[in-house]
Amino acid sequence: MSVFAHPEFDAHEIVAFHHDRDSGLKAIIAVHNTRLGQGLGGCRMFPYASDDDALTDVLRLSRGMTYKAALAGLKQGGGKSVIIGDPRTAKTPAMIEAMGRFVDKLGGQYVVAEDSGTNVDDIHRMADFTRHVGGLADEKATAAGRTGDPSPATALGVFYGLRAAVRHKLGRDDLRGLRVAIQGVGNVGFRLAGHLHAAGAELWVTDAYQPSIDRCVAAYGARPVAMSEIYGLDVDVFAPCALGAILHDRTIPLLQARVIAGAANNQLAEPRHDHVLLERGILYAPDYVINAGGIIDIYYEGEHYDWATVDAHLQQIGGTLTRIFERSDSEHRPTGGLADRMAEEIFKS
Ligand code: NAD
Repeated sequence: MSVFAHPEFDAHEIVAFHHDRDSGLKAIIAVHNTRLGQGLGGCRMFPYASDDDALTDVLRLSRGMTYKAALAGLKQGGGKSVIIGDPRTAKTPAMIEAMGRFVDKLGGQYVVAEDSGTNVDDIHRMADFTRHVGGLADEKATAAGRTGDPSPATALGVFYGLRAAVRHKLGRDDLRGLRVAIQGVGNVGFRLAGHLHAAGAELWVTDAYQPSIDRCVAAYGARPVAMSEIYGLDVDVFAPCALGAILHDRTIPLLQARVIAGAANNQLAEPRHDHVLLERGILYAPDYVINAGGIIDIYYEGEHYDWATVDAHLQQIGGTLTRIFERSDSEHRPTGGLADRMAEEIFKS
C-alpha cells in the first residue's frame, strides 16, 4: 500500500491511521484541504475487503468533501474517516469511544459527523472524548425540529437537485408519473422516496437489506427489484443512494434513464466515466453537489439553527446544478469535471 503515491492522494494535508488494541478499532482519518475551514466529514463504517480499499475510499470521500463544501458556499474544509468493520455485527461502544479519542488527537483539524454505518448515537458517544464533532442536536436545534441526523436535509437537497435535473433534461416541472429507480433505500434513499412519492413519481427500489425494501414498498407503493436489475430499468431517473463507484463500463451501457441524480458519494468509478455519460446523452448531477444537504444542515447547527434558513440554502443546490448543466451544454464538457473546476476556483483562490 502506498500513500503519497496513491492515485487518490491528491495533496491531502493529513492521512492518519489508528489501531486501538483494546477495542479492536482500525480506522483512517483523511483531511484533504483546510483552506476554507476545518476538515468536516462523516465517519463511515464498512467491512472493507482490504486496508487498501479502505484507504482508497477515505481519500476519495475526503477530497469530495472539500469540493462539496466549496460549491455549497460554506466556509469549511474537507475530511472524512472510515472504520474497518461491519456496522451491524462488529461495532462496539468501546470502538466508538476509541474513535472519539482518535479524532481528538488531530486537535480540531478534522471534525467528525455521521455517515453510512454510523449514527447520531455514535457521534454523541464520540463527543464524550472530543469536542470536534458535528451533527449533534443541541436544545434549540431540537426545538426547531432538528434531530442531529443529516439524512433528512440530504434527501431534501437531492430532491431539489433531481427536480432541477429533470427540468433541464426532460423539460418538465411536474413530477407526476416520473419514473425513478432508487438504488439503496437506507437513511437518505428512503426519505428521497418519500419526497418523490409525495410529488407523484413512480418508484422502483432495490437494497442489499430486504427490510429496507419492504419498508419502502409498504410506505410508498414502490416496486421491488433485484440489485442487478436496477441499472437496466425503463425509467427516467436513476438515483444511486447506496455506495460509490457504481457508474462504470459494465453498468453505464445498461442505463435507460436520461438523468442520474442520487445521494451516493463518488458515483463515478473513474473520472473518465463522466465523458462516457455525456456521450451517451445522460445528464449526470455531480454527486457532491446534489448531496450537500447534510453538510449544509450541520453548518447551521448550534444556537442560530433555523429550518427556513437551511431550506433556503438547500434550494440553492438546484440553482448551482442548473448553472453546471447550462455550462456543460454550451461547452460540451461533462458536468463532473465542470463542477470540479468551479469548486477549485473557490477553494484554491
Ligand atoms: P445507509 O447505510 O442508511 O443506506 C445505504 C443503503 O444502501 C443501505 O440500506 C444498504 O443496505 C444499501 N446497499 C448497500 N449496498 C448496496 C448495493 N450494492 N445495492 C443496493 N443497496 C445497497 O446510508 P445513507 O446515509 O442513506 O447514505 C447513502 C449514500 O449517500 C452513501 O453513499 C452516503 O455516503 C451518501 N451520503 C449520505 C449523506 C447523509 O446525510 N446520510 C450525505 C451525503 C452523502
